[in-house]
Amino acid sequence: MESTFAMIKPDGVSGNYTRDIKKIISDSGFGIIEEVMVQLDEDTVKNFYAEHSSRSFFPRLVQYMTSGPVLIMVLDKANAVADWRVLIGPTDAETAKVTHPHSIRAMCGLNLQRNCVHGSDSPQSAVREIAFFFKKSSSG
Ligand code: ATP
Repeated sequence: MESTFAMIKPDGVSGNYTRDIKKIISDSGFGIIEEVMVQLDEDTVKNFYAEHSSRSFFPRLVQYMTSGPVLIMVLDKANAVADWRVLIGPTDAETAKVTHPHSIRAMCGLNLQRNCVHGSDSPQSAVREIAFFFKKSSSG
């Protein structure tokens, strides 16, 4: 069993895709073991996406990710990290509509930025991201 970190981004929540996405999650054999709706603040987004801080799109990314509530989740399943990435499809939702029409981003994403969902890109990222959002009070 493996855990991954998943998020329904502000466009997914405000576009009322939460129920459909959660159905896909359970139909695909994932267990949802943590689930919280939160409004992210700028500092949290800047920390979460620190690897992109020097990119020109970063200010727009921070604005987008703070534009409304998000649903953060921990998903459990064998091979959860890779399987969730396959399910969400490519980063660019416009590409996803062409190359991965059955992916979640094809269903509810708009473009390279507004792509509806997030998934950890490696088991190491999953550990970091789950700790970032769900184990803030632990030492270290
Ligand atoms: P995520 O980390 O959100 O699952 P990802 O791993 O597929 O997405 P990253 O390259 O880590 O993609 O980019 C993080 C997020 O930053 C993307 O999901 C998207 O919202 C935004 N983003 C990435 N590249 C661009 C870009 N060139 N222009 C605008 N926004 C971008």
